[in-house]
Amino acid sequence: MAELTPMMKQYLDLKQEYPDCILMFRLGDFYEMFFEDAETAARVLEIALTGRNCGLEKRAPMCGVPHHAVDGYISRLIENGYKVAICDQLEDPRAAQGIVKRGITRVVTPGTVIENSILNESENNYILCIHFGEEKYGASYCDVSTGEFFVEEMDDETGLLNEMTRLNPMEILIADSHAKDLLRITEKTRFKNTFVNPYFDWAFEKRTAEKALCGHFKVNSLKGFGCMELSSGISAAGALMQYLVDTQKNALLHITTLRTLNDKSYMTLDPNTRRNLELTQTLMEGGKRGSLLWLLDKTRTAMGARLLKKMILQPLKSLEAINERLGAVEEIKEGLYLRESLTDSLGSIYDLERIISRISYGSIDAKDCLSLKRSIKALPTVRELLKETASPLLGQVYQGLDDLQDIFILLDNAINEDAPVGIMDGNIIKPGYDEEIDRLISASKNGKLWLAELEAREKEETGIKNLKIGYNKVSGYYIEVTKSNLSQVPYRYLRKQTLANCERYITEELKEMEDTILGAEEKRKTLEYEAFLKIRSILGNNIVRIQACAARIALLDVLQSFACVAYENAYVRPEMTDDGILDIRNGRHPVVESIRRQEFVPNDAFLDNDKSNMLLITGPNMAGKSTYMRQAGLIVLMAHIGCFVPATSAHICLVDRIFTRVGASDDLASGQSTFMVEMNELANILNNATPKSLLILDEIGRGTSTTDGLSIAWASVEYIITNLRAKTLFATHYHELVELENMFAGIRNYSVAVKEMGHDIIFLHKIIKGGTDRSFGIDVAKLAGLPEQVISRARVFLDRFQEYEVSLGGLPAEKENSPQSKAELPECVKKISKVNIDTLTPIEALNLVYSLKKEL
Ligand code: ADP
Repeated sequence: MAELTPMMKQYLDLKQEYPDCILMFRLGDFYEMFFEDAETAARVLEIALTGRNCGLEKRAPMCGVPHHAVDGYISRLIENGYKVAICDQLEDPRAAQGIVKRGITRVVTPGTVIENSILNESENNYILCIHFGEEKYGASYCDVSTGEFFVEEMDDETGLLNEMTRLNPMEILIADSHAKDLLRITEKTRFKNTFVNPYFDWAFEKRTAEKALCGHFKVNSLKGFGCMELSSGISAAGALMQYLVDTQKNALLHITTLRTLNDKSYMTLDPNTRRNLELTQTLMEGGKRGSLLWLLDKTRTAMGARLLKKMILQPLKSLEAINERLGAVEEIKEGLYLRESLTDSLGSIYDLERIISRISYGSIDAKDCLSLKRSIKALPTVRELLKETASPLLGQVYQGLDDLQDIFILLDNAINEDAPVGIMDGNIIKPGYDEEIDRLISASKNGKLWLAELEAREKEETGIKNLKIGYNKVSGYYIEVTKSNLSQVPYRYLRKQTLANCERYITEELKEMEDTILGAEEKRKTLEYEAFLKIRSILGNNIVRIQACAARIALLDVLQSFACVAYENAYVRPEMTDDGILDIRNGRHPVVESIRRQEFVPNDAFLDNDKSNMLLITGPNMAGKSTYMRQAGLIVLMAHIGCFVPATSAHICLVDRIFTRVGASDDLASGQSTFMVEMNELANILNNATPKSLLILDEIGRGTSTTDGLSIAWASVEYIITNLRAKTLFATHYHELVELENMFAGIRNYSVAVKEMGHDIIFLHKIIKGGTDRSFGIDVAKLAGLPEQVISRARVFLDRFQEYEVSLGGLPAEKENSPQSKAELPECVKKISKVNIDTLTPIEALNLVYSLKKEL
């Protein structure tokens, strides 16, 4: 029977341990894949499928990728939903006796990528682990490319979904026995593309989980992390740590702490509010451009960009913390020199967090070292700039900012400015750093001189003018003579190689020189490599320091970004209070004003606890109602993240949540109708809002028939004003609702001013006191370009319907406070109002007309 070759045996043994991964097996300069993996990879990567003799009768299917380009191929496989196990040679093949020792050095999954070429620099790449505990949901997430590691707990599924959508993880880890539960949740949401990875149940057991965490952080208990109470959270964090240890196969030195999140620090933003206020992406295109994040992002570093996104999604709840940020932003905004110098200095700082992760993974190269050095070079300037600052937060950054000069000196003395990427190729270490290396460098330099001398001598002796000494990796040094001069070649020349138009020779003397030069080169490369490893390990010992510095730079960068945006767009510092009053003067929508070419019309907004709880805004479509409400929501949110706001003044009270229900978004994927989605969202708001919440409700009841819609809108307003007393902006095209102002103390009618000029209208976008009783629908239709014939017919119908409405007896509010008193309508009208015309077939319609006629 045929027997597998030893190498294939080695391959299959390793593959057995990683059956769910594509195994990339290092062979010389390639990573090869075999059997089924090869077939899959060839298809996904669009590379040639070949075969290799494996000892068996049939050749093993095989495909491979060059090692220097492996990142790109890994990323393609990951994007296509595969996990990749990387198998490397664990010893120098030249020194190996028999088959080269190999082992899995890392498993790459979507949530554990560290390759720069795969990562988006302005986004975190999270892996989230969820534990379905008995009472609570535990969650823990980590970005292995930056070292951040968090733990938290949620009371219910909604809370869990909020976090899942906030984090947008690339991979979710879940206990085998709960995989189905997670599937049930993700199927209901937009999470279908996230890579879900079931993992051993045992890893989630509390004791095992605790052990994994204590083991990593080298502590006896988790007390120091403030998460002792979170038993579900600990299960999730421990399992995640176990998984990372299993897959990353290194000490993960850059995961230096576990941070506990609690809902007391941050305002919860549900996915609707994030979407509707277009915080990080726009509603229509889903891209960053046009979002609040896009507008506020004047960060100069990748770390700052990532932190900014996190800050926008985690508004603060504490007045003190908000004012600290605002104070710092104000100081940078007002100080021209400080602002411009900070912007400049931060611009030369590289992505320290990701460099740190590569230090921890032992994968930094000389280029990373140079980036680190250039970054550190900016630190003393940054510190100097902060020295005289007055605001407490900038003071804290100054106090805590270690300028890492010892590391700068090390790198500056050691690493060549033009060092190559490969760390085994030499040329990394600067002259003067290591005596032995210097000696070898000079030997190889002298070698070059000797060679030049030898070449001149040989030319002279042989009389061959174009004789030259050359070198290549395969055959070493040689003397090259062109065919036309062959007759002059002396006997002492030994032929080495014949080419088309020349011959290559070696001589005794050249051979000796070769041994000395190459020996020195090889030795030098080895010594340089060893010196580099030492530098790497010194950096490894300083991870915590560099990380602390990275965190401060990221914060400073966001504050600088806020200051620049505030300066460029004339924003003001909001006055933050806890008095329940929201008073925005001349507020503007930050994004709309920056994108629109025409002038933006500013508007005020005033809400308080009793007299003005709810602004009921009526006005035609396109007048600016949504813009006005979103602008208020955005201003409140911006204030809560410590950012200045687009207004001439803003008195902003703390709010506990911002709820939004805007527009009609169909969630076809989950099989819910527009109306159902709308009602679900409304239910969530009415069930969770408190008197401290801000509600933004646009066109409630739009998704159903007019009477149903009006009734729901009416009842919702009543409920909010009497039961919730939350501050509310309520836009509606049901002008019947304006009556509510007379019935409830806290309601104020507002409308958007429209100028009428004959049959034409102009939107003034100005919010004014008082409701409107016209919807201008036909005028808007005209603006949209409907044919004139349709417009004039519509006006005729409108007149007729209005006459009819009047004949039915005035506005509904005058009748028993109900939206529509159906009892007074004629039977036939009632019958028609019950019919859903959209689903009526022609035959049914005809039958209906017959039956109505009979009743007349
Ligand atoms: P509505 O919700 O009333 O249908 P929108 O808020 O969608 O209206 O606004 C309609 C258009 O008017 C948008 O294109 C917007 O850019 C513009 N707009 C809204 N408010 C203003 C304003 N205050 N100043 C200038 N343009 C505005």
